[in-house]
Amino acid sequence: MNRKYNRSRLWPNRWRSWLGASLLALLLAACATSPLGRKQLILLPDSQMDQLGAASYLDMKKTRPVEPDPHENRYVRCVVDALSHELKGKWGKIPWEVTVFKDDTANAFALPGGKIGVHTGLFKVAKNRHQLAAVLGHEIGHVIARHGNERVSTNLAAQTGVQLAAILAGGSAQKKKQLMSLLGVGAQVGVILPFSRRHESEADLIGLDLMARAGFDPREAVKLWENMQKLGGSKPPEFLSTHPANERRIFDLQRAMDGALAQYGRAQAEGKRPRCH
Ligand SMILES: [Zn+2]
Repeated sequence: MNRKYNRSRLWPNRWRSWLGASLLALLLAACATSPLGRKQLILLPDSQMDQLGAASYLDMKKTRPVEPDPHENRYVRCVVDALSHELKGKWGKIPWEVTVFKDDTANAFALPGGKIGVHTGLFKVAKNRHQLAAVLGHEIGHVIARHGNERVSTNLAAQTGVQLAAILAGGSAQKKKQLMSLLGVGAQVGVILPFSRRHESEADLIGLDLMARAGFDPREAVKLWENMQKLGGSKPPEFLSTHPANERRIFDLQRAMDGALAQYGRAQAEGKRPRCH
């Protein structure tokens, strides 16, 4: 290599400072904080994640059987309304959309942009409004903590960056499936990608607090996970394939229970007793 052609020639000073400033700006923009104060890598604008969520949701509504029963739809709507009423900032303002899918598997999800799906099979496990609020609070927790964005961003920062960029630019159906799995609808599209334990415990704690604030009994969250585990004997509920249940999760919920019960007491004193049935 020509010796005169050294690094400083390749990168003149003003370029280097520009590059440094840009990298710094990118990192500052990328460094976000979760609702529980954890530092996160967030590379995509929320608007883009919202669009991806909305597109996936629309696709699901077109291709999967939707439960028309107004009773079940009203029931889920009632729980979602009570929970979303307690959300702050942008999350409290967006219209959360609810769809009940005719599907025997015990599953539910929430996508960026405020899109919620509940399978009819979930009612076998979430046996009352409190337990349904525990599932949906948890799912909403994933959305408001921007876990989907964080997963996509982490992948972007890793080796698959180029591939993901191609998907975002409009890739093949197979690639879109991979993206959906990053959004948290993994098991449904055949690519199982469990949420990390960190995301799970964060969603659990956000969900527990949210349900208690809305006037649902937080103790039922523990019962819900016990129900999930009981059902896990012969054929594990689909929810468990993307949401690993374990003793640790129940232990953590119980550890946060005193605070949640105090919150629940205050909600009840304020007259928050959602009568969803
Ligand atoms: Zn989860």
